[in-house]
Amino acid sequence: MIIILQPDVAPDGPEVLEILAAAAHYAGVTGKVYSFKGQTHALVEVHLLGETKLVPADAFSDRRGVVRVVRVSERYRVIGRHAGQVDAPGFDYCGEHFGQETFHFFPGLCAVDEPEYVEATFRALAAAGITTARMGAYKPRTSPYDFQGLGKPCLPWVFELAGKYGVKVVSMEVLRESHLDEIRDALRASGEPTGVMLQIGTRNAQNFELLKAVGQQQEFPVLFKRGMGLTLEEALNACEYIASEGNRNIVFCLRGVKSHLGAPHRNLIDFAHVPVIKRLTRLPVCIDPSHSAGRRVLAPDGLTEIHHAAADGVIVGANMVLVDFHPAPASALCDGPQALTLEELPGFVDDVRIVREAYLKRVQRARA
Ligand code: PEP
Ligand code: MN
Repeated sequence: MIIILQPDVAPDGPEVLEILAAAAHYAGVTGKVYSFKGQTHALVEVHLLGETKLVPADAFSDRRGVVRVVRVSERYRVIGRHAGQVDAPGFDYCGEHFGQETFHFFPGLCAVDEPEYVEATFRALAAAGITTARMGAYKPRTSPYDFQGLGKPCLPWVFELAGKYGVKVVSMEVLRESHLDEIRDALRASGEPTGVMLQIGTRNAQNFELLKAVGQQQEFPVLFKRGMGLTLEEALNACEYIASEGNRNIVFCLRGVKSHLGAPHRNLIDFAHVPVIKRLTRLPVCIDPSHSAGRRVLAPDGLTEIHHAAADGVIVGANMVLVDFHPAPASALCDGPQALTLEELPGFVDDVRIVREAYLKRVQRARA
């Protein structure tokens, strides 16, 4: 059961304390307070957990400060929209708002390699006015003999360079809990020049212990990538692992699913699920056209298949585009064939903006 409070109610205010006290009268029921206060949205909710079946909604609906009481299903208890009864306020991080109405580019290197390449990429992002990026330091590779990422040693200079070029948030995959500590320590040691969105890769989408670990901290938001062989329901349940541990600052990322029917793409592009995720959950939705299309091939119309895949997701309302760029794709140590070049960055940004505007016009027309 979710008790939604008026936006001016403080999370530790008397209205909330009264609700928690009332909830304590029901055996096996505990109350948990969730709050979000961004620049434009504020939200306070009390979630009643446990044996709530016998708790009558009107025991709470008439209390002061309460907007409404929503009885929720067991599934997607925290991330769920519950048939549109709860709002999707999104979250703020490092001065950026992430929600179901916002839009961000996260271009960058699949794998951090040379400092010159990282610097050139950040410089190109700055020139394009982009303050969010991707940078992989820990790489989960199919073969143990492939480049595994530079790991901890590269973190200080990657973060310093991000700060130098005004990058506020870097999306970075973590493979184990200790990587969070390494990232936290490196950020602290370099004076917090940037922020990090922890990426859970497709291969770890059901690594429940890792999901719990990123859920148990609230310092970093999480970009959760759909497991390549998971149904949407399984993937959303995995996200609920993160949220149920306490971290609600989650972005759900579609990156294609494994199927021979996707060939010649690397994965079958599943971006038609963007509006489905927005309907079922409160999460902003990211698309990754690079790992889904998988190859930088030019279509006869002059746009690459990566551009077209990005358009597929953006035209249906994606909130974020995570995309591989590299200054010299031929010498990239990971996923070079799917990287766009830095010369292509302004054109890609322009193209995606055209599609985003078209999406916003579609929405405006539908709502008119
Ligand atoms: C990545 O984004 O660097 C990555 C490895 O992607 P995925 O987990 O989707 O394969
Ligand atoms: Mn990759």
